[in-house]
Amino acid sequence: MSFKEKRKDLVESLIKRKILTKTEVIDAMLKVPREKFLSEKAQSSAYMDTPLSIGLGQTISAPHMNAMMCEYLELKEGDKVLEIGTGSGYHAALCAELVAPENSQNPGHVFTIERHEELAERAEISLKETGYNSSVTVIHGDGTLGYSEAAPYDKILVTAASPEKVPPPLKKQLKDGGILCIPAGSKSFGQNLYIVRRDGEKFKSKKITGVRFVPLIGKFGFNSKSESL
Ligand code: SAM
Repeated sequence: MSFKEKRKDLVESLIKRKILTKTEVIDAMLKVPREKFLSEKAQSSAYMDTPLSIGLGQTISAPHMNAMMCEYLELKEGDKVLEIGTGSGYHAALCAELVAPENSQNPGHVFTIERHEELAERAEISLKETGYNSSVTVIHGDGTLGYSEAAPYDKILVTAASPEKVPPPLKKQLKDGGILCIPAGSKSFGQNLYIVRRDGEKFKSKKITGVRFVPLIGKFGFNSKSESL
């Protein structure tokens, strides 16, 4: 079976499970080649609905989690997005496919921050090889500080678990009316995924489901001594 066929099977199963519902998200998941963001060894598992190791103790999230976050963020053409936790770069590419589709008259942009320089460099290469480098900017640094240079953002997604619901700089950098998606809780078990909507100076948060992410490490995250699960 080719990667393309496996990708289609995975997407169909996510539709059946009612995780994927929006046409644009379905199309983006059918288009972005997840295998190209993985090591050669991991490529055969690219279309299993499971997190996979990307080295340095980090993971690429399971496809159903990528799909859920994209759906809840209501990503649309023209959005300016900030992602905390580039990892492999796959989720940034999915976001780019949604906010800056080919031939868009109003392309958005994805800024993505990764604390491990080696992962940031590798993600940049994968994004270039898959053609998403013009709509994604990879930044090496502490994402709990956000990226004020390009703020405010229409949408912010955090792909590592935060000890508190939203690190204060991210609240500040979210546009009025913007949406933020973040897993939060303890450093290993007992985390939940939240959707937070900004309404002026109010932030309304909704708990979506229990999840398990690697910890968010940084000034407004866990400290680095607690990095391993
Ligand atoms: N979105 C990624 C993908 O598509 O492959 C998966 C992200 S992985 C679950 C979480 C990532 O967050 C790891 O690569 C980790 O190094 C990174 N991370 C943790 N704390 C961070 C921080 N403060 N700033 C930036 N990246 C951070």
